[in-house]
Amino acid sequence: MKCLYCGKFVEKQTLRSVLLKSDSLCPECRKGLKVQRKIIDLGEFKAESFFDYDSLFRSILLQYKECHDEALKDVFLYDLSDYIDLRYHGYGLLFVPSSEKKRKERGFDHLEGIFSSLHLKKIDGLRMKEELCQEGKDMKERGRMMNNYIYEGGYHDKILIVDDMITTGSSLRGVYHSVCPYVKNTKVLSLAYKNNALHY
Ligand SMILES: [Zn+2]
Repeated sequence: MKCLYCGKFVEKQTLRSVLLKSDSLCPECRKGLKVQRKIIDLGEFKAESFFDYDSLFRSILLQYKECHDEALKDVFLYDLSDYIDLRYHGYGLLFVPSSEKKRKERGFDHLEGIFSSLHLKKIDGLRMKEELCQEGKDMKERGRMMNNYIYEGGYHDKILIVDDMITTGSSLRGVYHSVCPYVKNTKVLSLAYKNNALHY
């Protein structure tokens, strides 16, 4: 098997991958993409995050998201799906939407891909008011992101809001505010956390 990220040929599978599920990363890349579980305090709520936004994580995420390498979708939750399924049992997944433009460019929803290995049901009905894109925006634009989500997915007991990255937390705050009136119990999860980038 070839490592989907570095392309190195992997001769020996680990016992775990033979017995359980095969990993699309070679042991070196897997070692680099280490799970660093953290609880990030975003003021009104906390978010669980699994990876530090280091150069390897960033590079794999970019290859998947921006170079449209859809095959990489399963590498992120390889060690985590069972844990998330158990911890958030009964929660519906609500993905933070990308801009329409980005989604069209990619041809797939990157979050749905990553989280498709879970057994949690998906909740629809969240959209952006304006086509704002997160990357490279200044504080004013990020502030607008906070009021840029409309939720029309109805009432639910438990919702898990999911995003790939926490930078300033503005989009997660925006989504959180838009769903809160309709949901009894809201939890927040992000794949990664970019250190020292939080602004209140
Ligand atoms: Zn590799």
